[in-house]
Amino acid sequence: MYKSVETILVDIPTIRPHKLSVTTMQTQTLVLVKVTAENGVVGWGEATTIGGLNYGEESPESVKANIDTYFAPLLLSIKKSLNVAQTLTLIRKSINGNRFAKCAIQTALLDIQAKKLNLPLSEVLGGRLRDRLPVLWTLASGDTDKDIAEAKKMIELKRHNIFKLKIGSNALQHDVDHVIAIKKALGTDISIRVDVNRAWSELECIQGIQQLQDGGIDLIEQPCAIEQTNVLGRLTQRFDVAIMADEALTGPDSAYRLAQQHAADVFAVKVEQSGGLIEACEVAKIAKLAGIDLYGGTMLEGPIGTIASAHAFSTFDSLAFGTELFGPLLLTEDILKTPLQYENFELVVPQAAGLGIEIDEDKIEQLRRKA
Ligand SMILES: [Mg+2]
Repeated sequence: MYKSVETILVDIPTIRPHKLSVTTMQTQTLVLVKVTAENGVVGWGEATTIGGLNYGEESPESVKANIDTYFAPLLLSIKKSLNVAQTLTLIRKSINGNRFAKCAIQTALLDIQAKKLNLPLSEVLGGRLRDRLPVLWTLASGDTDKDIAEAKKMIELKRHNIFKLKIGSNALQHDVDHVIAIKKALGTDISIRVDVNRAWSELECIQGIQQLQDGGIDLIEQPCAIEQTNVLGRLTQRFDVAIMADEALTGPDSAYRLAQQHAADVFAVKVEQSGGLIEACEVAKIAKLAGIDLYGGTMLEGPIGTIASAHAFSTFDSLAFGTELFGPLLLTEDILKTPLQYENFELVVPQAAGLGIEIDEDKIEQLRRKA
């Protein structure tokens, strides 16, 4: 049983403009959910989105409105003792859609459950197979020389040695030339991937991907529109370079459909897109059964959503393409008392109970959106 559910919007400037085909971000709005159980144990979750409604179907404001109006009263109305699975079933029966909000609530409930059991959250999900996750960096300044300098600095700092480039907002040849120039500057040992964020038609995909494959690029992420799973499938058959589904993947149902068509070589698993940590693990299982590789994706969450994702990803059998759990590193302010541990090109999955992080509530109070 629960005492309170609070949704907090926190606006934090990014360290530099983050340019995607769908938007350019200067600020990230973290959507934080704090659930307090009747015994006083507090759980946290996050439902942050990329660029408001530019990326997905939920916005920070809609998540807050729906949690405050529907999820919170439902949770507070529970009068008998339900376990997490029974509570999630009740939520699913009462509330359609709203995967990001559902993920935040589920994360908070699992955080509480893991704290009660005095175990890291990963152990409540079946148990971790690794304590560290490789983390790539996204070069998204939009400027080739700046991106090369940023990559070299990251390699020197031992922060990241895999890079993803956000393309699709410029003319195709301009973008392809930009990517190849960066690949050439960084050399054969450094893995370069691209995320087109669904900007290309099928013909543009064929033209662009052929050049990127010839140029030594390792992974092509969501090149075509979300609903064009047939196109994604044809590209997967046509090219040797790995093709990854990202936006097209919206939980276990879509994972099952994409797997049946073998419409991708790799799935970008995101806990929010999946509708929760448990569902993200289901997506990973479907991928494994279908022979599809895995990549741990991000909605550019702050530290809460990032570490929740890390707990889930740490349980995956294989994570062939690593993760992009760098969200907190893109922000100018931290909301934790001790920052997440990034070292030697990896993120460390905490050992302490629950999410294993300590929230700085004073900092959140300072940064929260007031109106
Ligand atoms: Mg993506």
